[in-house]
Amino acid sequence: MKETKIILSEKEIPTQWYNIQADLPKPLPPVIHPATGQPITPDDLAPLFPMALIEQEVSQERWIDIPEEVRDIYKLWRPTPLYRARRWEKALDTPAKIYYKWEGVSPPGSHKPNTAVAQAYYNKKEGQTRLATETGAGQWGSSLAFGCNLFDMECKVYMVRISYDQKPYRRIMMETWGAECVPSPSPDTQVGRDVLAQDPDSTGSLGMAISEAVEDAVTHEGTKYSLGSVLNHVLLHQTVIGLEAKKQLEVAGDYPDIIIGCIGGGSNFAGFFLPFARDKLEGTAPDLRIICTESTACPSLTRGLYRYDFGDTACTTPLLKMYTLGHNFIPAPIHAGGLRYHGMAPIICHLYDLGILEAVAYHQNEVFKAAVNFARAEGFLPAPEPAHAIKAVVDEALKCRESGEAKVIVLAFSGHGHFDLAAYDEYLAGRMQDYELPEEEIQEALKELPRVGG
Ligand SMILES: *Cc1c(COP(=O)(O)O)cnc(C)c1O
Repeated sequence: MKETKIILSEKEIPTQWYNIQADLPKPLPPVIHPATGQPITPDDLAPLFPMALIEQEVSQERWIDIPEEVRDIYKLWRPTPLYRARRWEKALDTPAKIYYKWEGVSPPGSHKPNTAVAQAYYNKKEGQTRLATETGAGQWGSSLAFGCNLFDMECKVYMVRISYDQKPYRRIMMETWGAECVPSPSPDTQVGRDVLAQDPDSTGSLGMAISEAVEDAVTHEGTKYSLGSVLNHVLLHQTVIGLEAKKQLEVAGDYPDIIIGCIGGGSNFAGFFLPFARDKLEGTAPDLRIICTESTACPSLTRGLYRYDFGDTACTTPLLKMYTLGHNFIPAPIHAGGLRYHGMAPIICHLYDLGILEAVAYHQNEVFKAAVNFARAEGFLPAPEPAHAIKAVVDEALKCRESGEAKVIVLAFSGHGHFDLAAYDEYLAGRMQDYELPEEEIQEALKELPRVGG
């Protein structure tokens, strides 16, 4: 029988997350306190995060148990299916075998609840009653709203103003799950009030919204901050994706030659590739290619510098060593494709620096073209973010057509695009514009990087 999808049973939801820190050939660069220039301590992070997550952030244990309460909620949508994209292979007329791991089946429609649920759980367990966070287009805000609701916690979401105005549906989703969502910059924080005083029409940015959410957390009793990507513990929680996919590929009798995903802050793709990167680090899969895709409008990995930088615009977060476009970077408003964060997960940056990963950036028209090609073959309508990875799969599949090689290509398919139809409309109507970030703008933004280590 020709299978279309490989489904695992609920019993096969992983019982532990995989921590790559145990297997890195050299340790991650330390996170630095901006005031002292010294590595931060758990106490420095305690106002922001519960101790369990701070421990996970620096843990060197290879396997970390997934709490039974979290696994029980995962059962709502996990294990997620792994599809063999036979119709797409045919449409591309390629000998390549293409698989995709589909995270769009979760209630919010992406991979993000894998960590939102875990974060709400640990906060609740340590006595918190409320979480504050930022969101861009609303995928993370809606995922945390979903997670908080399951644990009876309040949730306050600072949503980047331009998205709040242009994309109301995710806000409505957050409110349906009981969260409060305000446009950022907002009058609810000092950071927000300062920005509004200077520029009442500010369209906001992710970095600015992070500053607001951080301030909210440290000034409200019973409240912590929650981040949906970038940090080690977030990537850790997402490894359920890759652990399941590995098992599913075993069932199919395949091992990938190429794995491809999109990187915004890096969490979904790292969650997918980390269990495979382990094989590469250990030498059992030396030829495995791991390709990260990003946007030419926000090319952190392909054009940023590997430096210490702040995670937010107001310079309040600890300093992370990452490929960055500078903490003041705001992507061009014509860019519709998500993946807008100025920095990148330190784990991804470290592995990129070690030569374990490749990276490529695409323009949005070619990305949407590939997404439409995919939707017409497989049916599912991709979010703009994984559409970048879909473009890379098309390129690799066409190379296989040239060479006649039947490579196994696996796509990390992070979520659906049901709330991004306006972007599809622009593309289909021929109104979408490509955007290449000018080199001067990158150089300008990078001048503001903080100095670390003298
Ligand atoms: C948020 C999001 C991303 C980008 O975030 P990462 O942390 O890089 O995974 C990608 N795809 C979807 C569907 C998202 O919602």
